[in-house]
Amino acid sequence: MQKMKKNKYKLKKNDQVKIITGKNIDNTGKILKINKANGTAIIEGQNMVKKAMRQNKQNQKGGIVEIEAPVKLSNIMILCKKCGPTRIGFKNSDAQKKKLRICKKCGEEL
Ligand SMILES: [Zn+2]
Repeated sequence: MQKMKKNKYKLKKNDQVKIITGKNIDNTGKILKINKANGTAIIEGQNMVKKAMRQNKQNQKGGIVEIEAPVKLSNIMILCKKCGPTRIGFKNSDAQKKKLRICKKCGEEL
């Protein structure tokens, strides 16, 4: 068995996460999108930046819009319903024949 190099990508789309560093510290939100290639995630309503948009079909007027900028996966932690920000562990579920993600603190399924 080869050891995993890094545990960067345990997070998934729709995970509820907390930002643990930077200007949006302590904010929480839902992951909308993960970019594994560069290790970032888009978090709903977080890390908003203003961007000049050209006129197009979605945006009739063009002009300045606010969009979510990617946040580094290393700057966010998953939220456990019981204990808040936590690390992700795994356990094998015989019943479901798959690995489950669990909270490393309390063992709850995430
Ligand atoms: Zn927990």
